[in-house]
Amino acid sequence: MISGGHMLRLHRIRYRVFLWSVLMASPQATAQSAAPGEVTAITGVHVVRLDGSGALEDAVVIVEGDRISRIGRAATTPVPAQAKEIRLNGSWLVPGLMNMHVHFGLVLPGVEGARLAGETDTALVLRMASNARKSLLSGTTTVRLPGEKAHADIALMRAIERGEVEGPRIFSAGEMVDITGGHGARGETHDGPYELRKAVRKEIAAGASWIKIAISGGVATDGGGIAAALMTPDEIEAVIDSAHRFGAKVTAHSGSPVATRDAVNAGIDCIEHGYHLTRDVLRQMKKAGTWYVPTIVVSQPATHPFFERIGSPPWYLERLASVGQNHWNALQMAVEEGVRIALGTDQLPHEPNDGTTATVREALYYVAAGMTPLRALRSATIEAATMLDADEDLGSIEPGKYADIIAVQADPLEDLSALKTIFFVM
Ligand SMILES: [Zn+2]
Repeated sequence: MISGGHMLRLHRIRYRVFLWSVLMASPQATAQSAAPGEVTAITGVHVVRLDGSGALEDAVVIVEGDRISRIGRAATTPVPAQAKEIRLNGSWLVPGLMNMHVHFGLVLPGVEGARLAGETDTALVLRMASNARKSLLSGTTTVRLPGEKAHADIALMRAIERGEVEGPRIFSAGEMVDITGGHGARGETHDGPYELRKAVRKEIAAGASWIKIAISGGVATDGGGIAAALMTPDEIEAVIDSAHRFGAKVTAHSGSPVATRDAVNAGIDCIEHGYHLTRDVLRQMKKAGTWYVPTIVVSQPATHPFFERIGSPPWYLERLASVGQNHWNALQMAVEEGVRIALGTDQLPHEPNDGTTATVREALYYVAAGMTPLRALRSATIEAATMLDADEDLGSIEPGKYADIIAVQADPLEDLSALKTIFFVM
């Protein structure tokens, strides 16, 4: 047992348990380390299930090593004699949250961005490691990174896998594959199918399991209109074909219905943001099984104080305000049409937002947009795992899966704001 977040030791730990007394800014984590093969029993809990059958009440969860081995009612599930028992009496166990749009190296325009200008790659990787740890402590146990710098994300992913650094499981797109003049383009850019195929292969060779492209303009840069289709269909097809041949998936930053239609026709796996998506395009996505990661939190009022805090310039706030209503409409229509939605924020998972974290606030927006609490929780867990092709290991509390578990003080299936009470992370 170690007190104080800065004192964590890092030797051969398969997983840790963090008990939180204070959320976010000052994590008063106490951590318990578990050796491989060690047996842990979490007792006195209600286990939230994602199949519509509610919570399994008064239950025990047995964890062996880093995986769940057994779940059952307390009356019929004895705690093994050698097990370390964690009593969480009266709380609800929820699968660890999964955030599918995170930049651990995020730099936004404004005062904060100016402070980070000229940041070296070595400083970047340390900042990213700090953000990774805070994300984990806030209850986000898996992230997908759609675009980082200098392959710091790949180094961080491997360091976390080796147990050298604490953080969530990482699925990464490496560096975004940019076209000249496109959203987020900096440094090397790639135009035409041949250059793009080479760029895709470079990211995969570096360790990326996803490829990120920007097929329209964006909010955070002035590269092209938000609703403009910047990449040509033959370029989009070349990226998707090259990635799929290596078993990698492709996701696109898109605010544009036209660009999204091209990308869905070309077999893209996922669309980010979708600021201006229309019902027709959403129906096309539903039919094709294309995933949608809304990041609704960035364009909605709850996040305005954040942008004020980081000193965002007026042009940026105007661009955000210009997409807010259409973005909200797109989310509502996507919910109505039954588009497959995986949660993502485009903010740091643990970023304070409206009295909770960005991840939880995003999920609460999904409920406001028409999802049931169950469906919103699924978007933050098993749906994301399915999108990652990792649903055999992640996304629900079931025997055989990793023990990526959080605990809250009320039933989130009754009221999803129970996620504001995360106090335990395994
Ligand atoms: Zn982003």
